[in-house]
Amino acid sequence: MQELLERKKGLHRKVLIVDDEFIEREMLKNMLGDLYEVSLAENGAKALEMMKTDRSLSLIILDLHMPEMNGYELLEIIRADAELRRIPVIVLTAEKEAEVKSLQLGAADFITKPYDVPDIIRARVSRAIEFAEDSIIIHETQRDVLTGLFNKEFFFEYGKRLDEQNHNMPMDAIVLDINRFHIVNELYGREYGDIVLKSIGDSIHEIVRRTGGLACRSGSNSFGIYMPHNEDLSNELESYTASLEDMVGDKNISVRIGVYLDDGNAADMEYRFDCARLACQKLRNSYNTCFDFYDAALHNKELHAEKLINDMDRALAEKQFKVYFQPKYDVTGDTPRLTSAEALVRWVHPEFGMVSPGEFISIFENNGLIHKLDRYVWNEAASQVKQWKDEYGRVIPVSVNVSRVDIFDPQLGETISDIAKKNGLEAKDLLLEITESAYTDNAQQIIDMVSSLRNRGFKIEMDDFGCGYSSLNMLTSLPIDALKLDMKFVRNIEKNPKDLRLVEIMIDIARLLEVPVIAEGVETAGQMGLLKKAGCDIIQGYYFSRPVPADEFRRLIEA
Ligand code: C2E
Ligand code: CA
Ligand code: CA
Repeated sequence: MQELLERKKGLHRKVLIVDDEFIEREMLKNMLGDLYEVSLAENGAKALEMMKTDRSLSLIILDLHMPEMNGYELLEIIRADAELRRIPVIVLTAEKEAEVKSLQLGAADFITKPYDVPDIIRARVSRAIEFAEDSIIIHETQRDVLTGLFNKEFFFEYGKRLDEQNHNMPMDAIVLDINRFHIVNELYGREYGDIVLKSIGDSIHEIVRRTGGLACRSGSNSFGIYMPHNEDLSNELESYTASLEDMVGDKNISVRIGVYLDDGNAADMEYRFDCARLACQKLRNSYNTCFDFYDAALHNKELHAEKLINDMDRALAEKQFKVYFQPKYDVTGDTPRLTSAEALVRWVHPEFGMVSPGEFISIFENNGLIHKLDRYVWNEAASQVKQWKDEYGRVIPVSVNVSRVDIFDPQLGETISDIAKKNGLEAKDLLLEITESAYTDNAQQIIDMVSSLRNRGFKIEMDDFGCGYSSLNMLTSLPIDALKLDMKFVRNIEKNPKDLRLVEIMIDIARLLEVPVIAEGVETAGQMGLLKKAGCDIIQGYYFSRPVPADEFRRLIEA
């Protein structure tokens, strides 16, 4: 009996107490108030009004003798109403004969006055609600035959009804799928598959019995659990998954569990399950039992990434991508001299405004779209160099970023050569920046590719140097033309002598390799001074200029 009470604790069902005597109403309310949401009416007419406006009552406790409309009359009305008939009624009475009559009129049970001990009353109430809920379900064939859990439609219908009744109750949603269940069916037969489903169904019954939640079988190998929020769910699931093998009796069966934890946002039940399902789907392809929690921030990030991917083709066609140029200055002489520029792409997105490459480059690298974007940028950069060449009679070489993904394209050399040629440029007019970590990821392939690019006359700058953990040994065999120090070493050289020392060491390495050193991310005169003193050859950074559109760049050429 305690269990039944426990179960009802989870979701607060609504109970309506109808009695004309104030003291009686209050006594019952005291007994039931912690377990149920109790409302009160002092006669049958009032009660009927309340029942008609609030269709989410789980139980009515009805005194038979009242003014206005007595209990029998109300029972008759309830019995005649298809909707109200579902609500179980417990009759309050002191007379034996009344019991029979009220049962005939459809009452579910009765409580005799004077009242029993509160525990017994609570147990009767709880049982009546449970019977009624179960019989609705059986009546409407709302259960999954195999597991005895609710089916999906009823689960949502019922869950939403309970949510309405318990509108501030925080609820967690859980989706549990059996991994590779079709294989289980194929290998061991449907009958065995059914046994597995049933034992998992049983384990879920057991969970909701403890938590006071609801559960359903939502698909052939899929279950849903809706339960009052549990701060400790992670531990619960930990022990559930640990005991799964024992419960199912087969160590080859594993499940994945996605969870939406209530976050106080009053999301509706379907939304919670959509989120839990997403968390579950991410665990696909796992061979072990595991669970994960829905992460709204992560999900929004993924949606944003998805949107950027979808918008990309159109953006290319509509020239939403803008190439900016940031100057690089040779600082080996007395006055800095503009030697080249780096092309940096920006996306002027119709919805999000200016989007920085930090936001989309890695997304496009993950799905190969970077090929298209980089080709576009290289073309834009090359045509700009040509334009300046025609205008100023002088070539300002531009370095373009070559993504680590581009390296795998055997046509890369051909493509860049074509772009240079098409724009009337020589290979040396385009510098290629390749990040150091690309070298360490796939050393031989990149060495081959870079060698062939150099054979075509292109100059290669190793970008973000100091981050990729190249070994000294490897560095000496790399075909490169310049080292570009990673910004993070430059950032603190004024404050941190160790960082300055690191920069000096990297400059020594460049000397050893006999290539010039470029420092980027240089923002202050102080940084500039230290780098120059340390022997840095070329400086790029806000100290000279931010990346700017081609038009603005003219001022720097003309200066
Ligand atoms: P990166 O190649 O290391 O480019 C340098 C980044 O530092 C640029 O960021 C630049 O705007 C920024 N920067 C320049 N000077 C300063 C400074 O003084 N202080 C600070 N705090 N930052 C400075 P941006 O433009 O946001 O580009 C980020 C990264 O995106 C680039 O890092 C590059 O890896 C990638 N990227 C940009 N354009 C392209 C492209 O067309 N293709 C590919 N594959 N990658 C690109
Ligand atoms: Ca770069
Ligand atoms: Ca860099």
